[in-house]
Amino acid sequence: MNELNRPSTNKVLVVDDDALIIGEYLLCLGNEFEPDSATETLSDLEKVLFGEETDERGAASFEVHSRNQGEAAVEAVEAAIGKQQPYAIVFLDIRMPPGMDGIEAAKQIRQLDPNVNIVIVTGSMSPEPENLGREIPPADKVFFFKKPFHALECRQLAAALCGKWHSDMALRNANEELEKRVEERTAALQKIAYFDPVTRLPNQLLLIEELKVLIEKAEDTAGDTVVVLLDIDRFSFINETMGYDAGTELLRSIGNRLSRTFCERSGQQQTVVGRFGSDEFAILVPGVESDVAMRDLAETVRDTVEAPFLINGRDLFLNASIGVAWHPIHGRDAKSVFRCAEAALHRSMRNLKDPITYYHNEMRYRARYKFDLEAELRSAIVNGQICPHYQPQQCTKNGDVAGVEALARWIRPDGSIVPPSDFIPLSEEMGVSDLLFESIMRSVCHDVAVWRENGEWKIPVSINLSAHQLRNRDLVGLIKGILSRGNIDQTLINLELTETVLLEDLTVAQPMLNDLAAFGVGIHIDDFGTGYSSLSYLAQLPVQTLKIDQAFVSQLTESSANNRVVEAIVALGKAMQLEVVAEGVETDQQYAIIRRLGCDYAQGYFIARPMPAEQLLKWLGGYEDTQSIKKRSAIIEIDQGQN
Ligand code: C2E
Ligand code: CA
Ligand code: CA
Repeated sequence: MNELNRPSTNKVLVVDDDALIIGEYLLCLGNEFEPDSATETLSDLEKVLFGEETDERGAASFEVHSRNQGEAAVEAVEAAIGKQQPYAIVFLDIRMPPGMDGIEAAKQIRQLDPNVNIVIVTGSMSPEPENLGREIPPADKVFFFKKPFHALECRQLAAALCGKWHSDMALRNANEELEKRVEERTAALQKIAYFDPVTRLPNQLLLIEELKVLIEKAEDTAGDTVVVLLDIDRFSFINETMGYDAGTELLRSIGNRLSRTFCERSGQQQTVVGRFGSDEFAILVPGVESDVAMRDLAETVRDTVEAPFLINGRDLFLNASIGVAWHPIHGRDAKSVFRCAEAALHRSMRNLKDPITYYHNEMRYRARYKFDLEAELRSAIVNGQICPHYQPQQCTKNGDVAGVEALARWIRPDGSIVPPSDFIPLSEEMGVSDLLFESIMRSVCHDVAVWRENGEWKIPVSINLSAHQLRNRDLVGLIKGILSRGNIDQTLINLELTETVLLEDLTVAQPMLNDLAAFGVGIHIDDFGTGYSSLSYLAQLPVQTLKIDQAFVSQLTESSANNRVVEAIVALGKAMQLEVVAEGVETDQQYAIIRRLGCDYAQGYFIARPMPAEQLLKWLGGYEDTQSIKKRSAIIEIDQGQN
């Protein structure tokens, strides 16, 4: 209970313009009140009922104040409330000329004090007692008392109403206390729901709410409301190498520094900094008026995060990817703007050269497209809409087809073709890449069996493996199982892996690759020359072939520096007894150069584009007859041109 609201006694105000009646009140409510014998028993009952509030003589004790006019009564009530010692009861006479009548005084008193019990005391039956509740609500705090009254009657009524008042007040205080606790709890819960516990910054939920508010306010101000999202590159690496606590401390430091830079700068009070996701932060800035200001903002965010952080006594240098989108251009509501900023951020995360991406509308179509693909991909795999096309690889020495590479193609029911660069990463994100790999493997086995029936016994097929597949501990068993069920000669199957895939976890990859190689499957390194080559791994792995990345081949001219790269890779291959394939050979000039530089095989549009399995059979047939003569003569011509 609120201490200040707890009165020491039962405070009663009696109001009557007749001094005699006031005297009567004082007599029957006063401490000198002597009960006559007839009222002794009732007094005993009173004692039982209101024990605490009775004096040593067994009677209830009151602090009685009196007034002879309505106005004065209202003032007394107001003063009592001001002192936080309110009245429990006001006895009010109806007619008190020349001032306001009792009903008016009651109304004003009720305005001031919602708890006091008001007793209208009158000799007549007007106003009608049953209307009082309506006129001076609430009905349970207004009473009718008829004059003339018996002293004991008055005292009992006062005692009963004081008792009621005390329990009303206790209940009210308990409710207030409860409400306060609920409010505190709600605030605490909101803090949990809306703030990130590590950085104490607004979390994603609150950021969205804050952006809504900024957008609303932006209606009447100039400039755009900008959302900058930033992601710390390789944050998980920091967590893994320096420990979880260091990671947490780093996040806190980033949050602090961003807040200091953006929220505490003068004139930027409205800027909001928050933690958007695990290692993502958001900065919301209203009123950005020019492209220059926008660029300035994004670059300041980058510089803020890229200045070193002192963690565990070490200077940590971070790289950040940044995505920027703004209202109203990129979205009318907060969520749309955030979605655009996220799309821009993801673009930055993939593009190491440019860490800041400003959203543009083409990305919306990409996002929509990806969304559509995602909905279809799983069933496309299961229903065989994704199958391999095959691209031939030619031996540069004799012009023979030395093998084919299986390249996945997704042909949608409407006939549109989705390129692998769109659905392979998506399959990994969705966790269906193993399913896809298995389906491609089965299709390859099926096609190899068909070619075999058609007399093409020995076409080696290269299948691409992604990083995800190497994380699958059952990979070796899966491959062996599919090949043996399809009755396929395992020496016809090669697996292509990029250097980056291999290096991701060599300790896991190595035993798997050893196992596969021992089984008879060939291991080829794809896109060679672009990864973070540590050549030592080549000696440790059972690799047979290097495929020179097409980036080097496509730019080959007699005088280009890429000549030397290709030459070096070929020399390396020879030294390690590996065969070398040049990918992406598009022109006869490129073909001539890679051949001269010593590449064993060529793959590219110059020889053939990837094609469906049936078409490959026809192509091979034709190739054997007419094409082979043409191709071989082309090789001879090139040879002669060089000599
Ligand atoms: P990749 O393994 O480097 O495949 C070679 C890519 O170069 C293929 O693109 C091929 O069509 C293309 N190409 C071939 N010759 C030429 C040429 O002369 N000029 C040009 N400009 N391009 C040429 P594609 O089929 O779009 O495949 C792209 C990438 O998708 C592949 O690169 C590979 O990394 C991946 N991929 C394709 N199929 C699969 C698959 O079944 N599984 C996995 N994990 N990845 C696959
Ligand atoms: Ca490949
Ligand atoms: Ca390649």
